[in-house]
Amino acid sequence: MKTQKIISQLLDLFRQKPEIPRPLVEWMITSLEKTWEQELSCDDVFALLDQYAELHMRGEDTAELMPMLKQHLDVCRECCEEYDALVDVLEERPGTKQ
Ligand SMILES: [Zn+2]
Repeated sequence: MKTQKIISQLLDLFRQKPEIPRPLVEWMITSLEKTWEQELSCDDVFALLDQYAELHMRGEDTAELMPMLKQHLDVCRECCEEYDALVDVLEERPGTKQ
């Protein structure tokens, strides 16, 4: 994964610089991992769902544009149902169907 690659590159960099205190290095790595692997909450997803459904309706690549949201929908049944309902509404709306 991309994140792992970046972290391992950072670790290599830190190894070449022994003057950087080890606890600092570990703290930085942990922080980076938390930032990158943080998942969206259902509230976050609900806030973006309209936008995501609109992109889908326009035929945009939603997985490319909003990968974290796509990932959440894949694992969260509740949000996925909400998204399906939203798409149903959009598809029934006159003039937007392609
Ligand atoms: Zn959810």
